Amino acid sequence: MKIRTKIAIQFTIIVATILAIFSLSIYYLSETYRQQEFYNSLKDRALTTARLLIKEKEIDKKLLKIIDRNTLTTLYAAQVLVFNDSNQVAYSNYEADTIYYSRELINRIRTDRYVEETIGEKQVVGSMYRDTNDSLQKNYVVLAQADDIYGKLKLANIKNTMITGFFSAIILTIIFGFLFASSSLRPISDINKEISNITAYSLKKKLNTGNKKDEIATLAINFNRMLARIEKSFELQKSFVSNASHELRTPLAAQKSEIQIALEKDRSAEEYQEILKALSVDNQRLIQLTNGLLQLAKSEKSDEEVSMAPTRIDPILFSVQEEIINQHSDYKVNIDFEEIPDDDNWVTVNGNTQLLRTVFYNLIENACKYSKNKQADVRIKFNKANCLIAVSDTGIGIPKNEVEKIFEPFYRTQNAASYHGYGIGLSICKRIVDIHNGKISVRTELGKGSTFVVIIPHIN
Ligand code: ADP
Repeated sequence: MKIRTKIAIQFTIIVATILAIFSLSIYYLSETYRQQEFYNSLKDRALTTARLLIKEKEIDKKLLKIIDRNTLTTLYAAQVLVFNDSNQVAYSNYEADTIYYSRELINRIRTDRYVEETIGEKQVVGSMYRDTNDSLQKNYVVLAQADDIYGKLKLANIKNTMITGFFSAIILTIIFGFLFASSSLRPISDINKEISNITAYSLKKKLNTGNKKDEIATLAINFNRMLARIEKSFELQKSFVSNASHELRTPLAAQKSEIQIALEKDRSAEEYQEILKALSVDNQRLIQLTNGLLQLAKSEKSDEEVSMAPTRIDPILFSVQEEIINQHSDYKVNIDFEEIPDDDNWVTVNGNTQLLRTVFYNLIENACKYSKNKQADVRIKFNKANCLIAVSDTGIGIPKNEVEKIFEPFYRTQNAASYHGYGIGLSICKRIVDIHNGKISVRTELGKGSTFVVIIPHIN
């Protein structure tokens, strides 16, 4: 079912329920008031008749009947019966046997002094009336009964008006519900149309963000941001593939020309050995490059795929130090705590040992590689929330305008051209630090050195 229809139906159900409750309450209250009003009127009627009959000595039964028929019955035809002390009919404005009454009812009136009840279509009121003029103080029972034809007619009119009103309101609600739902959802269907025109090759297209304020505009703004991110990652992907092929092509082309030159004529065993050595160097470059690419692919795993556990940072750094010194005997790596931690948790992060090793290996190796003294100084710090690892060198530094780019895959600064490398390491570091909810940044001065700082939240 379309949302538009759903909204219209829900809207109608809500309005119908409210209207039904409202109408039923009004009808019920009107009926209660009508009954009560009619009882009050019957009571007045009964007592007036009793007073005229008993108190006004000038008015006898005959006269009362005439008054009764001509004046009192102008509003509605009430039947009134008056019983004397011995429960005999003292007065009736109609034939007594056409009027309902029973001994039991009269006795009940005498004990309760006042009774209201509905018998069939008629409402009945019974009341005691005491003749205070009489020395015997006789107790009369007055009974008045009538059918509230006008009241019921009025109520029936209210009922009909309500039923008509109810159904008209429902029809209007359905119509307006549909119109309202359509107009509310129009921006969504517009966005839908716009989205269906966006393909992988037209990511530059942006959705109309309307008034930039309401929820739909927020949706469009967020969608545009997502498009921008997708576009960026598409661009990155494209430049990655072209950079990777370029990097792979260089050693392959070198190998090809070395082989071609070797095959041009017969050579001595020493010459072949030289050629094979050169080929092996290119081969080694290819292996390093593919290893780097493999690591990059590994670091691109989604966050959920990486297994994380509480991991102490300092043992990782010391093992990286050992490995680097073993591989490059001329490299020097100093590791220092800025402050000895009171609590192991301050230098323990929720992380993946292997990936963290890769980060620090790249940073320390770069620090040694890009500095004359081949030295990296590593400092471990911490604050309330994070563990900070700073890797400093006094090397070539990074030109200001290139600082932002060094974390992009394959980017190498101009001044690093003479150093061996592929520009993959830092992009791997950034991705891994991201997976650890951390941050990597660099402070650098050209010709003076650089400090790379990794900040990762520690466990508490
Ligand atoms: P690689 O070192 O293999 O070129 P990286 O991704 O590790 O690749 O580094 C990217 C670039 O950042 C390097 O080519 C270099 O230009 C610059 N860079 C990284 N570390 C340093 C450093 N410690 N000092 C100066 N430049 C650096």
